[in-house]
Amino acid sequence: MNHADAPRARESREEHPDDRPDRNEVERKQKERLASHMARIRHKLLVLSGKGGVGKSSVAAGLALELASRGRRTGLLDIDLHGPSIPRLLGLQGAPVTGGEDSIKPVVVNPNLVAMSIGFLLPQIDAPVIWRGPLKYNMIKQFLTDVEWGDLDFLIIDSPPSTGDEPLAIGQLVEDADGAIIVTTPQALATDDVRKSISFARKMNLPVIGLIENMSGLTCPECGAKIDVFGSHGGSAMGLDMGIPVLGSIPIDPAIVQSGDRGALAGYLKSDAPGAKAFAGVVERILAAVRSASTDPMGSSSTTDREEHDE
Ligand code: ADP
Repeated sequence: MNHADAPRARESREEHPDDRPDRNEVERKQKERLASHMARIRHKLLVLSGKGGVGKSSVAAGLALELASRGRRTGLLDIDLHGPSIPRLLGLQGAPVTGGEDSIKPVVVNPNLVAMSIGFLLPQIDAPVIWRGPLKYNMIKQFLTDVEWGDLDFLIIDSPPSTGDEPLAIGQLVEDADGAIIVTTPQALATDDVRKSISFARKMNLPVIGLIENMSGLTCPECGAKIDVFGSHGGSAMGLDMGIPVLGSIPIDPAIVQSGDRGALAGYLKSDAPGAKAFAGVVERILAAVRSASTDPMGSSSTTDREEHDE
């Protein structure tokens, strides 16, 4: 086509108003798809933190891996659009994503765990993406509407730190979320963040399932003494003050950093490390919390392994 033809070509491509898909119809179909996808997921948990660097993504990935290792069919959705760390934590950077025009297959981590993150969709890990509010909302909506999550027992949603567009989008799109899990660190400075996260969840009508205190003390490898690097129990004390259950404390362990960097958190969780035991305890308490809140008379265990579990 030469340049002189270009305007006519554009003109001929212009749609007649009657040919345009009805916007309302498209939205209605999307709503239906969202509802039918969400109906196949029993429990949806939003992992929140008031600020960055408290280990929220590591905790979200650890919870998802631990649930999956207990036979729960689990999805891990990373909605940290600015700094997605789930692909690295799972050792799946560059994993190919497949799918059709309006359906995306989540990345398979293991037989019980699938994941989705903007990090899987960007051509390069350092590709800068500028996300404005409505774009973020639409991307998160697509993650929920177009990703073929299938039947899941749990969807763990790793939200970026803050009380901004991303968790708000989840609040609007996932009407029946079970609740929020707040990750914090023990120093007194963290207490403001805990208070902020709790108020935010309450404003979104999202029950707060509990609080996890991460980086809670370091055991000296030489003498075994406990060093409270970030003070002790500031965040969890604030949670208790505000009537929020503490789901557990995960110690500082350099092996968490190393295994996270290598995408080998699953191996860490299987080890005898105190941090691995702490993760297991947290997951027990989460299972107990959703079980007691659940109106499902069969409890919250997977339909495939109901007999094997006690909830
Ligand atoms: P966030 O999502 O809150 O920004 P990340 O999960 O990305 O935090 O963790 C930040 C850094 O802290 C990572 O290097 C991670 O390996 C490390 N980390 C997280 N939890 C622990 C822990 N309990 N002990 C030691 N390092 C940790």
